[in-house]
Amino acid sequence: MEVSHTQVLRERGVRITPQRALIWQALSESGRHFTAEELWERVRGALPGLELSTVYRSLEALREAGLVVESRLPEGPMVYEARSAQHPHLVCGVCGRIFHPEDPRLCSRLLELLGETPEGFEIRELHVVAKGICRDCRA
Ligand SMILES: [Zn+2]
Ligand SMILES: [Zn+2]
Repeated sequence: MEVSHTQVLRERGVRITPQRALIWQALSESGRHFTAEELWERVRGALPGLELSTVYRSLEALREAGLVVESRLPEGPMVYEARSAQHPHLVCGVCGRIFHPEDPRLCSRLLELLGETPEGFEIRELHVVAKGICRDCRA
């Protein structure tokens, strides 16, 4: 385990366990979106006996520390990635790959606009997903 990975956890006040350190490393190094099951498959070889429920609990701890974002995509489980804020996703309906728009500010702009509603409603989650066909699949 590299020092730099656990350093980030320590700075954010996350109690470090081997599970959390490994899951954080997998997420931050790949830069990809993973379902909890995919992460489990990826790291369980390094931590025999690792339970899927522990993966979920570790993701929750990382999410609470502002290191991981949980996103809901249509017709699928939650996906997790090493990012600090909710942001829009573009999902290819052919290959299933997930893309980010060049300008990630749509969610924060929407939250600003929605925040001006007078009902005192508190927004906890905002998921913005566009479905389409990526360049590779169109070719
Ligand atoms: Zn994303
Ligand atoms: Zn595609």
